[in-house]
Amino acid sequence: MNLGVIGTGYVGLVSGACFADFGHSVICVDSDASRVDTLTRGEVPFYEPGLAEIVKRNAAAGRLRFTTSVAEAVDGALVVFLAVGTPQSDNGEADLSQVDAAAREIAARLDGYRVIVTKSTVPVGTGVRLRELIAAHRTKPVAFDVVSNPEFLREGSAVNDFMRPDRVVIGTSSDQAAAIMREIYRPLYLIETPIVMTDVETSETIKYASNAFLAVKISFINEIANLCDRTGADVHVVAKGMGLDKRIGPKFLHPGPGYGGSCFPKDTHALAAIGRHRGVTQRIVETAIEVNRAQRDVVMDKLRQAAGGLEGKVVAVLGLAFKPNTSDVRESPALDICRRIVAEGGRVRGFDPVAATEAAHALADLADGVQYANDAYEAASGADALVVMTEWNEFRSLDMARLKSLVRCAALVDARNVVEPEAAKRAGFTYVAMGRGQHQA
Ligand code: NAD
Repeated sequence: MNLGVIGTGYVGLVSGACFADFGHSVICVDSDASRVDTLTRGEVPFYEPGLAEIVKRNAAAGRLRFTTSVAEAVDGALVVFLAVGTPQSDNGEADLSQVDAAAREIAARLDGYRVIVTKSTVPVGTGVRLRELIAAHRTKPVAFDVVSNPEFLREGSAVNDFMRPDRVVIGTSSDQAAAIMREIYRPLYLIETPIVMTDVETSETIKYASNAFLAVKISFINEIANLCDRTGADVHVVAKGMGLDKRIGPKFLHPGPGYGGSCFPKDTHALAAIGRHRGVTQRIVETAIEVNRAQRDVVMDKLRQAAGGLEGKVVAVLGLAFKPNTSDVRESPALDICRRIVAEGGRVRGFDPVAATEAAHALADLADGVQYANDAYEAASGADALVVMTEWNEFRSLDMARLKSLVRCAALVDARNVVEPEAAKRAGFTYVAMGRGQHQA
């Protein structure tokens, strides 16, 4: 089938490349010409394991093309996916300006039946609104359907998540569009992926409810970790003991500095805004947002205490991406901690295996307050404190004795609980974790 994908960010590029790998012919569009140039050269503009190979393979096979022209995609495709950004606006709601702009461009070009699919995360009611917007802007009285097909991939394992999802959700009231969508996802149907067919509003709600639930789970275990800090219980064992209960499950029970990234923060705010508008305050989600915000203070308190204040201190920040296996630093807790350290008169020596360039761009206004190291040991040289902010695998096996020999003061705050507490203490570190009272030095 001929498909168009508007937006070549994490979701658009992964979806487009994987659809091509399913055997479809895909035209990917981005308004950012330099991004399209990069992709046309066969390079992927961000770090995502396994993605470059799939892009190259399908581009070489002639199934995957890149362009800046929405018109080209609409002309050549039966189904057009919207995978543009839906960032948070000042009032917490999702900013739909990219979606609306792309929909208007599609409408202007419609010359026959098309299925227009929202893969971007959009608030309940967007499908209906897009139907009206496209109907108002089309220049010919052609038929079309609007379908909701939210994406659940995770950055860092996006290709695998797309190829082997827990479920595919399709929201539409049109039998014709439903049949077309089923055909697109046939390769997943064949490997028995559950496909949830529903109406547009339910599909839109499933996406926000899923992300908000995960955010709540993270905030819940963070509060339990903070309690463990006071009681001496070990949150790792608490989480294990909870997670073995199949009704709870072990995932998303890892305490840390609070969730970040391009989805949970904005999606929880958007769901809270939807609730307020509809007169059904989402109190649990509102509280999760508040708990998440406060969790950064918990990390700063630990750091300040371990380092004996931050004024004039050098802090090695290990990990800058919002999570491992990605170069994405959007809403990264690590960057927030860097800013706070500098605001308190400290200096940061940051290291990340792949996200240093993105971090330097995002923190450009801090100028000399933040320097970047080539590895964790260089970051630690002469530092007064270390803080682990991203659970990159390589931080699990740091050579503690070597680190200790490099630092000026031996304060180590493990905001991700990835360091072996005993190894850190043996090396002579003052070790502080999240909710592991008994294991702290
Ligand atoms: P992104 O910001 O990485 O990419 C969006 C791309 O769309 C950019 O390259 C931008 O230049 C392009 N664009 C914007 N307007 C355009 C237009 N009119 N025409 C052509 N291109 C245009 O965003 P993302 O992280 O891929 O997220 C996209 C959507 O998917 C969001 O709604 C997000 O919430 C949702 N989502 C993201 C993830 C994730 O892990 N990143 C997971 C699931 C869902």
